[in-house]
Amino acid sequence: MISKLFKDMLQGKSVIREFAEYAQRRGSEIGYENVFDYSLGNPSVPAPEKFTQVMEDLLKNENPCALHGYSPTLGNNVFRKVVADSLKRRFGIAYGPEHIFPASGAAAALAHAFRCISKPGDEIIAFAPIFPEYQPYVNQTGAKLVLVPASIPDFQIDFAEFEKVISEKTAAVLINTPSNPSGILFSDDTLKKLADILNKKQKEYGHEIFIISDEPYREIIFDGKEIPYVAKFYDNTLSCYSFSKSLSLPGERIGYVAVNPSCKDAEYIVPMCGQVSRGIGHNCPASIIQLAVAKVIDMTSDLSVYEENMNLIYDKLVELGFEVPRPDGTFYIFPKALEDDAVAFCKKALKYDLILVPSDSFGCPGYFRMAYCIDTEKVKRSLIAFEKFVAAEYP
Ligand code: PLP
Repeated sequence: MISKLFKDMLQGKSVIREFAEYAQRRGSEIGYENVFDYSLGNPSVPAPEKFTQVMEDLLKNENPCALHGYSPTLGNNVFRKVVADSLKRRFGIAYGPEHIFPASGAAAALAHAFRCISKPGDEIIAFAPIFPEYQPYVNQTGAKLVLVPASIPDFQIDFAEFEKVISEKTAAVLINTPSNPSGILFSDDTLKKLADILNKKQKEYGHEIFIISDEPYREIIFDGKEIPYVAKFYDNTLSCYSFSKSLSLPGERIGYVAVNPSCKDAEYIVPMCGQVSRGIGHNCPASIIQLAVAKVIDMTSDLSVYEENMNLIYDKLVELGFEVPRPDGTFYIFPKALEDDAVAFCKKALKYDLILVPSDSFGCPGYFRMAYCIDTEKVKRSLIAFEKFVAAEYP
């Protein structure tokens, strides 16, 4: 008999994907250049030229059997050392290669982290609005995702609500700063307060509560801000990173779990990730990609276009009367819809070829998300469509 779990999931297809598919269909009718597709978080700038050169060089000069061979279970030692050194240099935490587990993107990093620190029946708390894929990521571990309602309008943490849901069953708190979908960074104050509560609760319950810090947007920060590095605030932190956005390599599937050396049982967690891999059929990222990324570890793509797009969109939306938290980073913005029903709002926007994603599946109804990883020229044209949309539908 086929699995009921996965069969039932076919009914709950990702809303983001549905809007993205619509955009493609509409594109085949009117030309994709005329569809203002803000649905998907696929980077719009290329990987650095240096990355391409490094790949060419590896292909030409490395032993092909080694280059295309299996990666060691716990990853390539050069990659692990380079990542650990970079984190140590940037954030002042004494990571060593033994604290780094290379994973196939943030998705796989999270899959390993959850399994290392929770068991079926445990709870993992996250703060709305969330990346909707957190639901399947957590559900398939047997743990339960518990959502704390959004703190509006600042999109920090509603600590009163958080204290209502934290319990003996809490294995971890999952945070994503800066956030998909809001673009908001948790402040130092927020992270300190979160750490204080967790330290207190760990003592009260007599077990660890981990922070799983999902950080694929760590390098995409606006207004010259400094990002507070989560692991500096709390020892029991597993940082899940991805090069999908910073180096524009989402198809290459590369990221890592970094285990804070001061974390409880730190020496076990990376080897345990290797054991998790055996069960879920994961293999470390391709050897060639680990070696290539190791050579460009402190580089990013030219991320400036995202800030330029954000400023254009933010200014226009404010001018049009939207309530919108100003993103600190990422390539998302999360305005309040002009009616309570964000699905109805986004469906009306389709008439103007604006592809906006309603926020219901982000756990924060009444908003919509725009992924502005698109050409700036298209952003500019879309703002004219926005003016028409608002004037006609919400006079
Ligand atoms: N976490 C968040 C918040 C994301 O937005 C994404 C992808 O968009 C992921 C995790 C998964 O990223 P990756 O491509 O690294 O698996």
